[in-house]
Amino acid sequence: HRLPNFCAGPATMPTEVLTLAQSELLDWQGRGMSVMEMSHRSADYMAITAKAETKLRGLMDIPDNYKVLFLQGGASLQFSAIPLNLLNNQAGDYLTTGAWSGKAVKEAKRYEKLGLGRIAEVATGKGSNFTDVPAQSEWQLSDNAAYFHYCANETIHGLQIFDAPKVDAPLIADMSSSILSERINVSDFGMIYAGAQKNIGPAGLVIVIIREDLLDNASEWCPMLMNYAHQAEKESMSNTPATYAWYLSGLVFDWLEEQGGVDAIGKINRQKAELLYATIDNSSFYANPVAKAHRSIMNIPFTLADSSLDKLFLTESEKAGLLNLKGHRDVGGMRASIYNAVPLDWVQQLVDFMQDFEKKHA
Ligand code: PLP
Repeated sequence: HRLPNFCAGPATMPTEVLTLAQSELLDWQGRGMSVMEMSHRSADYMAITAKAETKLRGLMDIPDNYKVLFLQGGASLQFSAIPLNLLNNQAGDYLTTGAWSGKAVKEAKRYEKLGLGRIAEVATGKGSNFTDVPAQSEWQLSDNAAYFHYCANETIHGLQIFDAPKVDAPLIADMSSSILSERINVSDFGMIYAGAQKNIGPAGLVIVIIREDLLDNASEWCPMLMNYAHQAEKESMSNTPATYAWYLSGLVFDWLEEQGGVDAIGKINRQKAELLYATIDNSSFYANPVAKAHRSIMNIPFTLADSSLDKLFLTESEKAGLLNLKGHRDVGGMRASIYNAVPLDWVQQLVDFMQDFEKKHA
């Protein structure tokens, strides 16, 4: 049996995808072996990766002058790969709006010390405890920056930036927890990256979508495995890739296409988020501190007015079959991650539980 799972990542996968993967685990399309056991250089596997890329390009409408890479090391390794590939003795601008963009700028600073360029934190939302995004009029942008980095959705703080910032430098967005959740315009960005383990597939894979003209600025110190131009030339197979995670991601792309694509899933995602935020806002028992314009549609943290009930909420919700609602330790309280594979019905079950719990304990 499968239960409503609100984990922030690795997150729940579409049941249809796991059922298909299970049915062919021992024998993929009559080949007598699993995709897991195939050479990554085989014609079968090359066809699998080509199809996955085509599907992702279709879903996101990725223009031809962008490369799509399927790499390893998670989103966190990109925090290093970005300055190593793109800083190019210039300035890298960073907007800090929560834990993940904060980690990105901290990691980039190490390369400033190495003399690869200057790292500038243009603004931080720390003063608001990351419940709001600093106004653009306060950003201290560098002249001729090599890039502007931000996190489109702060998974821990539940803070989302829906509109791509309008700055002169190429935009780099960490979309780990928001990719494919609704339509974006890829050509607004120089680069988009996302760890797979939320809206795409199993952990072990990170997707990089990068405009071709940004490919040739890597430092000589950039490890080859992290070098975007090199990986683009090698079709993300400079070494053995995360073959099975890549395959399952392709199945998730098929699934998303069957759901009607990002526009259709985006509508459902909005409904799910509205249902949960309405429940929180219509009660004095629950609260969410994030500025309304920036409330995430993927990760929804909430607190109880009486935090001494937190433990009970978690044990009772788990007993009711609602999994992984504990908030991140930096924020406390609860968090419901409601990625693409979480159906509206699960959110309804959560909301019913919350209202019930409130009646019993308010
Ligand atoms: N960026 C965001 C927005 C995330 O949510 C996460 C992980 O939860 C990361 C980066 C780090 O991803 P990884 O664990 O794949 O390095």
